[in-house]
Amino acid sequence: MAIPLLFLIADTGGGHRAGATAVARRLELDCPGEFDVHIVDPTAVASPTLLSRTADLYSPLIHHARWVWAALYHATNSAPAVAVIRASALRSLGRALRQLLASLRPAAVVSFHPLLNHVSAAVVREDGVSRVPVITVITDLVDVHAGWACRDIDAVVIPSPGGLDRCRRAGIPAARCHQLGLPVDSAFARPFPDDAERSALRRRLGLDEERFTVLVCGGADGSGSLPVRARAIAGSGLPIGLAVICGRNRRAHTQLAGLRAAGGRAVPVMGFVDNMAEWMRAADLVVTKAGPGTISEALCSGLPMLLTWYIPGQERGNLEWVVDIGAGRYVPGARELVDALAELSLPGSPGLAAMRSAVAEVARPDATRRIAALIADMARTAPVQG
Ligand code: UDP
Repeated sequence: MAIPLLFLIADTGGGHRAGATAVARRLELDCPGEFDVHIVDPTAVASPTLLSRTADLYSPLIHHARWVWAALYHATNSAPAVAVIRASALRSLGRALRQLLASLRPAAVVSFHPLLNHVSAAVVREDGVSRVPVITVITDLVDVHAGWACRDIDAVVIPSPGGLDRCRRAGIPAARCHQLGLPVDSAFARPFPDDAERSALRRRLGLDEERFTVLVCGGADGSGSLPVRARAIAGSGLPIGLAVICGRNRRAHTQLAGLRAAGGRAVPVMGFVDNMAEWMRAADLVVTKAGPGTISEALCSGLPMLLTWYIPGQERGNLEWVVDIGAGRYVPGARELVDALAELSLPGSPGLAAMRSAVAEVARPDATRRIAALIADMARTAPVQG
């Protein structure tokens, strides 16, 4: 019988679910039939709590009141603040988690969200005898919120040296810290695309095969004024191909319907897509907000980035890191964006070549395989739950 595993997420943005799904798929590829992974958002199944309301508020806050989110992020970004949240808002999740543990009897509990580690560890350990391993997989890239650093877990998967520093300072022993990178779907864990693959994908996706191609996106919620950026590129007169992925942002999707680029060519404008790897592998450059998932996926696809926007708090460091290593540039204004595209889309652009080499240096396509192997090993050696 397959070994049950419980993966915990919250649907704030797309990165937590994408990370959990990537690891679940990798487990199935590498150990077919051995594990039965349940990906659950306990903030959605619990009765309405402060946390589930906060999760519902995440997208409106990010889009309409970034400063409120920034204030909330910074106010909660310390061990004492996380302890207060644990003692109040997170307590109400305990019942939902207890029910999940009782019905699934998982061989490991893996948290992909900064506010679910502490409550998971507390509930798993409350009988004083359970030895089910509790594992955290951090899905932020550079700036790791204090909530991620939970001392009572058995292993924490860390994406970057900055994250390692945060976990060590929080008192997590070195032996439990695994700096393996950020999980991305196995569709991204392939050698960089060559010209033949890129052409075939462009044909299939309705893009011009010959043109330098720019992909515009903004995370799962399509954040970062997509219509303004997409219209600026389409109206620039640059001889480039363009595709826009609006994710769950229905407003942007509607506003951009019928968009045409240079020469009157229709621009593919998509809602939420399930084949992001294909769109990235078809493109020469991605214009995006500084989301950790999108950045890691772009790196694995050999794709330089123009970053236009970031969520204050957890994404500011991503932006600085991408710019520091030379894999991308920060172009917050529409005019700067079009200027950068004019330079980078020129045939043989030295700027683009330098960005491509930087991308190749830091891509970690093996991260998900290593994370899945760690979880599999820990689950196999966990005692069977009666
Ligand atoms: N994504 C997707 N389809 C879409 C838009 C986004 O699968 O139409 C995925 C994207 O590939 C990435 C995640 O959603 O895995 C976005 O994560 P990121 O960390 O970049 O931003 P977030 O949405 O968490 O703010």
